[in-house]
Amino acid sequence: MIQQVHSHPDIYRIRVDLPDNPLQYLNSYVIKGVSGNLVIDTGFNRPECKRALCQGLQELDIRLQSDTSLFITHLHADHSGLVGLFAATGCPVYMHPVDYQYLVDSEDGSTWKAAEDNFMREGMPLAEIKTQFSNQARTFSPDPHFPVNPVHDGDCLHLAGCDLQVIHTPGHTPGLCCLYLPKEEVFFTSDHILFNITPNIQVWYHMKQALQRYLESLQKVRELPVRLALPGHREGDTSIAGRIDEIVAHHDRRLAEICHLAGLYPHSTAYDIAPHMTWSMRGKQWKDFPPTQKWFALGETLAHIEYLVDHGVLCCREEQGCRHYDLVRTET
Ligand SMILES: [Zn+2]
Ligand SMILES: [Zn+2]
Repeated sequence: MIQQVHSHPDIYRIRVDLPDNPLQYLNSYVIKGVSGNLVIDTGFNRPECKRALCQGLQELDIRLQSDTSLFITHLHADHSGLVGLFAATGCPVYMHPVDYQYLVDSEDGSTWKAAEDNFMREGMPLAEIKTQFSNQARTFSPDPHFPVNPVHDGDCLHLAGCDLQVIHTPGHTPGLCCLYLPKEEVFFTSDHILFNITPNIQVWYHMKQALQRYLESLQKVRELPVRLALPGHREGDTSIAGRIDEIVAHHDRRLAEICHLAGLYPHSTAYDIAPHMTWSMRGKQWKDFPPTQKWFALGETLAHIEYLVDHGVLCCREEQGCRHYDLVRTET
């Protein structure tokens, strides 16, 4: 399903449904220029997404050849999964090198293994970790063997007849990049800013302080003049500052909630704390969460715990290979 979201330049959204995924669908954006086109993000590497994306491109009369470029905003498989389609036909692919390297490192399973070992130290039972082996992010990930044009913060790309500014906003992933059209004040926010759901913040073994970095990245773009914000999932908006303030307030509430729980349940693991947090899973209780959601929820809990430890609010003690957390008691 395609929808035109902007004229001059002509920008379209291809809705790529993500079956059995709470995100529902990915927005793949297409800037259709006279002498070239730009596609931003692809959907998972699975037949349903491929069909939706290819049908959208066909309706827009866009052929995958060297005058069509692909910009991958970040490494997540729902955004990068179908890069192989583009790379195979010689389309230039743009991506931040940090996220590209992560894709390469993921190929032999070592990054997943590192995350599993970490989650085990945070109290997640092995049986639950094993249920993750079939999660969509792994099953539908891209083939990372594609030539990449690395992009960095502040780069200006001239693609599809437009001047696009690359804005590196680490947090959701280490290398997430948004794209900005300064003249038109159109902002492709990817998963950095979402409007109907809150972007997930995880812990990363090669990026310390993901939440701190994320909050900084929100402030980095808060004053950007924006007339149209186009997110990676769900619907967009005509401004971002108000939404950024809401997201910051959401994380403040989460941090306060973890402090409260750490006081209530001393010496807990992150896995002990996570079930007591407020999750918006359509009224479901922790025990009924699908395994993938537990994985993301524990990661999100950990990102907040990491922030609190770094700010001296919580302390961590490792016993028998498992980490336990307590409030730091200050002498009065
Ligand atoms: Zn993402
Ligand atoms: Zn996403």
